[in-house]
Amino acid sequence: MPPSPDFAPGTVWLVGAGPGDPELLTQRAVRLIEAADIVFHDALVGPGVRALIPPGVERVSVGKRSGRHSKDQRTINDLLCEAALAGRRVVRLKGGDPSIFGRSAEEIEHLVGHGIEVRVCPGVTAASAAAASVGASLTLRGIARSLTFVTAHARAGEAIELDWLSLARNETTLAVYMGRAAAGTVAHGLIRAGRDPDTPVLVVVNASLADERAIRGRLSALPFLVRTISDDEPTLLLIGEALHSVPAPPIQRTAAHTNVSSCAAR
Ligand code: SAH
Repeated sequence: MPPSPDFAPGTVWLVGAGPGDPELLTQRAVRLIEAADIVFHDALVGPGVRALIPPGVERVSVGKRSGRHSKDQRTINDLLCEAALAGRRVVRLKGGDPSIFGRSAEEIEHLVGHGIEVRVCPGVTAASAAAASVGASLTLRGIARSLTFVTAHARAGEAIELDWLSLARNETTLAVYMGRAAAGTVAHGLIRAGRDPDTPVLVVVNASLADERAIRGRLSALPFLVRTISDDEPTLLLIGEALHSVPAPPIQRTAAHTNVSSCAAR
C-alpha cells in the first residue's frame, strides 16, 4: 500500500460513495477506502462499493434508510470520534456527495470540536447520476436557468415546510431527494403555488445500479408515477421544463440498463 500523506492516523475522511455504481467513485475515494483502518458506511452504500473495502479493514454499518435508523446521529458521531482518538484512519462513507443531505456538517462539527482532523472527498450526487442515466440535462439555456436540490423529508409527525412559491418558478429544475412518500404533497404544493401541472417529471429509481428504472410523466400525475416504488428503493424526483430534453426512450446504455417508460400523464 503506498503511503497516503493526507491520511495520517487519527484523521477522519468523509467520503462520497456516489449513487451506487462503483465506477462512479472518484479515484481518491478508492484510495482512501483502501488506506483506511476502519470504514463506517450508510445503508445506501451498496454491495458494489462495499466490495472495495479490503478484507482486513474493519467495517461498521451505521445504516440509515427511510424510517429505519439503526444508529442515531449522536451515536455515529461518538463512534467516529472514538475511532479517530484511538489513532485509526477513519473513512466515513456516505451515499452520493457528503455535502448534500448527508448530515456531514454535524459530523464535522463534532469531530473538529474534539480536535480531530476532518477532510471531505466529494462524490457524484444522486441528481447528477439520475440525469446522466436518462441522458437529461438539468439546466437548459434560456429555459431552466437554476437548479434546486430540495428534500421532501420531514420528521415523523411534522409537515413538510418548503418555500413553494420559489420552487414553483418555471425556470427552476427541482431535484427532490427523499421525495417518494411525499410525492403527492410536492405536486400539490407546486401546482397550488403556480407551477404548470404539465411540467415534465422524471422519477429515477436506483440510479446507476443494475436495477435502475426511470418513469416519465407530468407534474399533475406525480403521485401515480411513484405508486409502484417500494419504501427502500432510493428514488429521485426531477421536475422541470429541462426534462423535455430527455431523448425518446430507450437510449443506449453501457453498464446499467435503464428503461425509461412513458406514462400517460393526464
Ligand atoms: N448525499 C446523497 C443524498 C442522501 S439523501 C447524495 O448526494 O446523493 C438520500 C436520498 O438520495 C434518497 O432518499 C434518494 O432520494 C436519493 N438517492 C440516493 N441514491 C440514489 C440513487 N442511486 N437513485 C435515486 N435516488 C438516490
